[in-house]
Amino acid sequence: MKISKSFKYRLLTNKEQDLAFSGWAGCCRFIYNLGLSERKNAWEQDKTTLSYVTQANKLKDLKKAPETEWLREPPAQLLQQSLRDLDQAYKNFFTRIKKGLVGAEAGFPRFKKKGKSVDAFRFPDPTQFSTRKVSNKKSMIKLPKIGEVKFFNSREIEGEIRNCTISRDGKYWYISFNCEMELARPNNHRHLGTMIGIDRGIANTMVTSEGKIYQLSIGKIKKIEQRKSVLQKRGRKKKKFSRNWTRKIRSIAKLDRRIFRVRHDFLHKTSTTIAKNHSYIVMEDLRVKNMSKTASGTTENPGTNVNAKSALNRSILRQGWYKFQILLEYKSAWNGGYVSYIDPKNTSRKCSKCGHTEKDNRLTQESFCCKKCGLELNADYNAAINIFTQGHWGSACGDAGIGRIDEARTNYRT
Ligand SMILES: [Zn+2]
Repeated sequence: MKISKSFKYRLLTNKEQDLAFSGWAGCCRFIYNLGLSERKNAWEQDKTTLSYVTQANKLKDLKKAPETEWLREPPAQLLQQSLRDLDQAYKNFFTRIKKGLVGAEAGFPRFKKKGKSVDAFRFPDPTQFSTRKVSNKKSMIKLPKIGEVKFFNSREIEGEIRNCTISRDGKYWYISFNCEMELARPNNHRHLGTMIGIDRGIANTMVTSEGKIYQLSIGKIKKIEQRKSVLQKRGRKKKKFSRNWTRKIRSIAKLDRRIFRVRHDFLHKTSTTIAKNHSYIVMEDLRVKNMSKTASGTTENPGTNVNAKSALNRSILRQGWYKFQILLEYKSAWNGGYVSYIDPKNTSRKCSKCGHTEKDNRLTQESFCCKKCGLELNADYNAAINIFTQGHWGSACGDAGIGRIDEARTNYRT
């Protein structure tokens, strides 16, 4: 099985290189935005979809036109790659629609704003650049049009380099090599981990049927967002494009990236741990769309309790469940395990011990108390066990798992 992996390093640019990179990133952003507005217009005017090739063919004319001749500065492949990225963004959007996502979750391609979106560009063809080591700590990459740029080779690049992306994060530029490699896995590999059910919730990000909680630090994200809104307020008072305004915008973008990293780390770490230790993972088929759609309701039937619900939905989206699914699915596949989804109906109302199902079993968000047998458990944990059991009956695992769960539940203290 082939996998791709990225290796990212900090570049040691000089002033001239900094300037060139900023300019190239600007050109790429310009082409991306131009391409997006062209596609939007074509669709609005005569319901046609422009292809990558049609758009790329126009690049030549743009470079000849006096008002856009500055597009000749960056290597041609960077601009082509921007149009390819745009094409991919459209394809991803349609895939998400097919999967049943709507609205913000489906994510229609957006315009890239200067100072807000990351300055970046990609060399898609590995024959266009080359690297060489100059010392134990430093290497050089030779790029078209600009020559050699130094970078810190903090670790060895593995596999075969497919492309590289240069991007700015704060003050520095970074280079990320995307490499492809063969994943060494013995034939007939069998995952020896156990089966597990996972409940994804609001109060607890994830609870497993073994009583383990994986928590995304929402508090941390909220704090960053508070700081962001303060900066945004201050930014509004500044004169647009002034030095202070630019500084504020940069700090806001920095906070956005920090939020991204907090969530990204959590999702990666959790999915790695779970995929490593469990061969069969059961989760609810949440269709996040159903939950995010109801908040505003329809005009005839406005959603009740709109504010509380949209706050809830925001935190759902904030936790990145959809991304988690994708990560877990491919990591499980690497490890020889698999992920399966069950119907979420009643998982939070059903007693995991006697099976009694009643709305009143769950009177508060946190606690579950069975009206029939008196079982008291953390509500998310109870749901996780139900998810496990339901997945268990849907599989051919034998009875081995159930005893283990009974044991775990007895030992669990809320
Ligand atoms: Zn019960």
